[in-house]
Amino acid sequence: MPRSTKIVATLGPASSDKLVLERMLAAGVDVVRFNFSHGTADDHLNRAKLVRECAQACGREVAIMADLQGPKIRVGKFEGGKVELKQGARFVLDASCDLGSAERAGLDYKDLPKDVRAGDVLLLNDGLIVLDIERVSGSEIHTQVRIGGTLSNNKGINKQGGGLSAPALTAKDVRDIETAMACGADYVAVSFVKNRTDVEMARRLATIAGEKHGIKPMVISKIERAEAIPLLREILEASDGIMVARGDLAVEVGNAAVPALQKRMIRWAREANKLAITATQMMESMIVNAVPTRAEVSDVANAVLDGTDAVMLSAETAAGKYPVEVVEAMAAIVEEADRSETVQLDKQFLDQTFARVDQSIAYGALFTAFHLRCAAICALTESGSTTLWMSRHDVDIPIYALTPSRQTSRRLALYRNVHPLHFAPSNERDVALAAAERLLLDNGVVKRGDLIVMTVGEPMNQPGGTNALKIVRVGEHA
Ligand code: PGA
Ligand code: MN
Repeated sequence: MPRSTKIVATLGPASSDKLVLERMLAAGVDVVRFNFSHGTADDHLNRAKLVRECAQACGREVAIMADLQGPKIRVGKFEGGKVELKQGARFVLDASCDLGSAERAGLDYKDLPKDVRAGDVLLLNDGLIVLDIERVSGSEIHTQVRIGGTLSNNKGINKQGGGLSAPALTAKDVRDIETAMACGADYVAVSFVKNRTDVEMARRLATIAGEKHGIKPMVISKIERAEAIPLLREILEASDGIMVARGDLAVEVGNAAVPALQKRMIRWAREANKLAITATQMMESMIVNAVPTRAEVSDVANAVLDGTDAVMLSAETAAGKYPVEVVEAMAAIVEEADRSETVQLDKQFLDQTFARVDQSIAYGALFTAFHLRCAAICALTESGSTTLWMSRHDVDIPIYALTPSRQTSRRLALYRNVHPLHFAPSNERDVALAAAERLLLDNGVVKRGDLIVMTVGEPMNQPGGTNALKIVRVGEHA
């Protein structure tokens, strides 16, 4: 059985070389993430070209996810690049300061002094440095250092409990959306989403920009602000999927709240027929070590058991010493975890309601394949929506999505347990089904005598038209 949970890898200096990238794809990367916090438009465009070349060389469908920087609030630069903050010392964050010192730092978000008050807690550098706000006057936030440490240029600032009013899309993000679409990005990830309006705005901009390049990107909302949690359902509704962005989320809501939130977010995403990616520090120690820690192994496996569509690598592949090995290690963990639970599909179906024809065929196929112990589900699909519904449930049967659309194939690279295969079907149903059977045989994913379930729409080649299900003994009529 092929691996069902997918792997997202962030590209950066450690993974920009053609050979390294090819080895990463061969080791199992399904989606590459471009981090728009770094690099120029040209860097991203060149990287996109390289990804497409490498994917073709490896014969894999690989999606590109453009991750927008968003309103990450940061301190400015320091004389000498960094300063040491001592516990108990006074430290001022000053929106009008240009070059920082041990007493004072500049701010890229000039409105921060308006969003905070005495008694608030600011967390710097992913929560490693903690500042208590004593008073705010004009452009200055006066704080006392509760937990000190080294503070270097452009480190992030979070407010404990959330509540910063910066809009989710900055002017830079709007420009970056254009670049992302010129790169042919299949997914756009929106950082620091607060509510559905943020997502709708991003989708509108991405859709308009995408039209010029003939693409319609999917939108992933990164859940990393405290105020997004109570609005998760409406954010899900407006999104194609979410990212459990544990880095910033943990700083805002506290480390201890994150594991339970991760489980709830993934469950809700699946119930809403949306995608979920679990991100940040999954294999952190492999930035410098050749093997992961036991805790990291468990973390990756547990995300799989939570039902995530994909597990993500950040600095591990962008800037780490072992960009290929970390993908191999992650793939091995995922494969084992994929197989570790017994499937209880009937229970998952108990509360399922649906009114659409294509959706009922999708569930019918899943249910049939599970109970007849079929070797595969084969969906002839234009948009991939039948396979999305199927993949929101756990089954130990691989779902092959046969589609003529390259864009659909690339999107499906992120869906759990869905495996895209390029297929240009005949307009005649029986000819197309026979060709599909042959394609599965040729790819070695089924063998003669296997029972498979196929879904198809009539008339052929129309999105949303799936209306038939066929159970086939492979090779019977060949
Ligand atoms: P980032 O987002 O890596 O872009 O900050 C992910 C996270 O916050 O976990
Ligand atoms: Mn983040």
